[in-house]
Amino acid sequence: MSLPKYEILIGGKWRAAASGETFETDNPYTGEPWALIPRCGAADAEAAVEAASEAFETGPWAGTNASQRGALLRRLGDLLAENAEALAQTEVRDNGKLIAEMLAQTRYLPQWYYYYGGLADKIEGGVIPTDKAGVFNYTRWEPLGVCVAIVPWNSPLLILAWKLAPALAAGNTIVVKPSEFTSVSALEFGRLIEKAGFPPGVVNIVTGFGGEIGAALVEHPKVAKIAFTGGEMSGARVYESAARGLKHVTLELGGKSPNIVFDDAILEDAVKGAISGIFAATGQTCIAGSRLLVQKSIHNEFVDKLVAFARTAKMGDPSLFETQVGPVTTPPQYRKILDYIAIGKSEGADIVLGGKPADKEKFGGGRFIEPTIFTGVGNRMRIAQEEIFGPVLSVIPFADEEEAVRVANDTIYGLAAGVWTQSIRRAVLMAERLKAGTVWVNTYRAVSFTSPFGGYKRSGIGRENGADAIYEYLQQKSVWISTATEVPNPFVLR
Ligand code: NAD
Repeated sequence: MSLPKYEILIGGKWRAAASGETFETDNPYTGEPWALIPRCGAADAEAAVEAASEAFETGPWAGTNASQRGALLRRLGDLLAENAEALAQTEVRDNGKLIAEMLAQTRYLPQWYYYYGGLADKIEGGVIPTDKAGVFNYTRWEPLGVCVAIVPWNSPLLILAWKLAPALAAGNTIVVKPSEFTSVSALEFGRLIEKAGFPPGVVNIVTGFGGEIGAALVEHPKVAKIAFTGGEMSGARVYESAARGLKHVTLELGGKSPNIVFDDAILEDAVKGAISGIFAATGQTCIAGSRLLVQKSIHNEFVDKLVAFARTAKMGDPSLFETQVGPVTTPPQYRKILDYIAIGKSEGADIVLGGKPADKEKFGGGRFIEPTIFTGVGNRMRIAQEEIFGPVLSVIPFADEEEAVRVANDTIYGLAAGVWTQSIRRAVLMAERLKAGTVWVNTYRAVSFTSPFGGYKRSGIGRENGADAIYEYLQQKSVWISTATEVPNPFVLR
């Protein structure tokens, strides 16, 4: 049986890659290929950036005002809402995440387009009360030009929305490159972009591998900004290449987030928080609470409760609503997680749950790994320091607040942190002392279009979400108009 063949979108036209080449994308639940994706290269990068550049400079988009852009974004939000179910099914098929989570995500997605659509015409310049006599000075916020959005596989449409909505609200044009493992949802979403009425070339979607089309887009001299979400190593490569071209960047990278349980926490709530931090999305989230710091006085009791709860997690077919743990999305990720489980064992940590692949026969033939909990983990072990991006939890005991802060911050990352306590003093002080872009107290894994998201340290540069994120896609211009009746001495700085 031949597989459906998808096409890329460049300058308002659907077409194959210039080379005509394709690659297979598989269903992580079955491990079977189910669609063919264009394998784009430098020629497609050139065509996509040229189309975006032309749309920015001379197309109807250039003459569109901010209120009109807002209306287009809101129309796109409506179309997304109408198609949320179909898009969720695609995501499940292509990346293996749970239907329950993907449906919640695709139903939530329109909010990004409504929010930034609403914000588009509220970005105001200022009139500067300048010290100079005889001049009128004001500021304008202007778009950067052609932006490139590079997206990973774990939440393809959600992470795309974090980039696309503010970039378009600000008036930029864009080239989107989804992950080679999960390209289909972006291509299907492209149909909605067309239907919403965005002029040709405003949004272009190309597919393929990071080192091929991804690198070619980042290097292209007509690209003004790269908005990247992905791993730290690829992020560093993108940053280097962008630096050579003096381009704007936002980088949303990895994490090794501490989830800290104090002895005054409501333990049942904290257990759910720990589970949500590491086993939701099969641990394949940048904000995974993969280091669970537990106060020594409750350590054993807490681990018992945690293991008992985790044991009940229902693994299986991600397209069923009752499933709680799905497959691992990509083959390299599957191998990486198993390698880290072996590393944890060799480092001397104790496995109290899981620790091996799940029975393939029972679980659809796909890439399943049992939810795994290591205890007796020291914070210098590799399983405590390196991002695993899978259902593997390292439990680390601590004595008091001082030690909790020291261990929590002893990482190269700083994306998120969780704190479980009933003490308001402790909550406020921990939120202040933890070096992370997001701190959750008595909750975990909450994100919203309204609230800034991003990393400290090696977890990233810049912020997405929230009103300020639109400025990541704008540049400020200062305009001086003379109101003087006489021209002052031309040889002296005014
Ligand atoms: P990845 O870095 O392998 O790939 C991400 C994207 O970058 C893909 O589209 C890939 O094709 C592209 N890419 C790779 N190398 C490139 C290069 N040299 N030039 C241009 N593009 C390149 O990451 P992944 O495995 O898809 O995703 C998992 C990683 O993403 C994890 O580290 C995770 O923490 C991170 N992540 C971060 C956030 C966040 O918001 N901070 C969110 C989700 C995922």
